[in-house]
Amino acid sequence: MILGAPGLDGKRVTALPKNGLTDFMQSIISEKQETKEPFYVLDLGVVTSLMDKWTLTLPMVRPFYAVKCNPEPALLGSLAALGSNFDCASQAEIESVISLGVSPDRIVYANPCKQESHIKYAASVGVNLTAFDSEEELEKIRKWHPKCALLLRIKALDDSGARCPLGPKYGALPEEVTPLLQAAQSARLNVVGVSFHIGSGATHALAYKGAIASAKSVFEAAVRLGMPRMKILNIGGGFTAGSQFDEAATAIKSALQAYFPNEPGLTIISEPGRFFAESASTLATNIIGKRVRGELREYWINDGIYGSMNCILYDHATITCTPLACNSNRANPTCKGVRTYSSTVFGPTCDALDTVLMGHQLPELQVSDWLVFPNMGAYTAAAGSSFNGFNTAAILTYLASSKYDLGECW
Ligand SMILES: *Cc1c(COP(=O)(O)O)cnc(C)c1O
Repeated sequence: MILGAPGLDGKRVTALPKNGLTDFMQSIISEKQETKEPFYVLDLGVVTSLMDKWTLTLPMVRPFYAVKCNPEPALLGSLAALGSNFDCASQAEIESVISLGVSPDRIVYANPCKQESHIKYAASVGVNLTAFDSEEELEKIRKWHPKCALLLRIKALDDSGARCPLGPKYGALPEEVTPLLQAAQSARLNVVGVSFHIGSGATHALAYKGAIASAKSVFEAAVRLGMPRMKILNIGGGFTAGSQFDEAATAIKSALQAYFPNEPGLTIISEPGRFFAESASTLATNIIGKRVRGELREYWINDGIYGSMNCILYDHATITCTPLACNSNRANPTCKGVRTYSSTVFGPTCDALDTVLMGHQLPELQVSDWLVFPNMGAYTAAAGSSFNGFNTAAILTYLASSKYDLGECW
């Protein structure tokens, strides 16, 4: 079903047997990697199984994938084919989603603070749903896109459990809600619902409950002001695949029961980024240098903090890697049972900040061996630079599709 999706246009998707990822990476390394550039493997089987998981667990919540998390066209195209909608934050993101043939009514322009020219562009292509949290934003929308339906972004009051809280930057405070609704009313703008984001990489599932309760009070405030009934509840992102997703879903379902029981005509949407992107991508990097200092092993690889591993700084990620000793240990490339050393892994740029791992246990590896980083699909290449001439955007993505049984995977 996703083969032939836009964004995959003519690209080869390799079917993987169970646990076949390592073999696939080795075949890429031996067949295509004379220059030993880093590369990604994006497993569309994982994306498909995550969509199945979402639909089974939260069937009442329509996902709008947050493009900023990973804008790889093959990922966007696959998600579109799987029925996802999209959360875009800029003109360029809207353009890339529309260029895949996605209809503009499947896009929420969820950025609460938009450049005027981007608002004009959204109006011109028919993206008619956006968010706001200030009177100044309302004024810009009134001027350039007065027909746009609006979501009032509120601040989630408990985002303390999130890896990247968004509350310091976005979301109306409780006392700002009524004045903002009144301002929209007098500008004759159409506020259709509420959105929030409990923070990316959220760990407190109950934060959804508090935010859904706050959203309910905004719905009530609109009724008190004599506005048309609100009809969209946007519960944002913050999801991580795995057991945390089940906890979040349980909290969300019970909060919907408590605060929005039989709300007629209510559409519930969400903006998952990390959930779909993180575990689907694996990064392979080549060891380009080595130094031995006593027991310590130090390695240089050809991607780092200014590239894919910017997630350590910006996304507060904890990353890990495994060896693929394609050069020095062909008989046992994953180095099973081999003695390990405390190792440092540096990125390629000439900045000492460009340090990827310290005190990581790795076997004795040699220049030209590889290090493999799992779970590298979220907030990685998307925010990398070309500092020092190491161009993150040039890193190739190879597409694979493993067959997962939902039961086995989770
Ligand atoms: C970043 C962002 C998302 C995605 O968040 P995740 O935690 O990756 O799911 C969703 N909505 C908005 C408005 C965002 O800024």
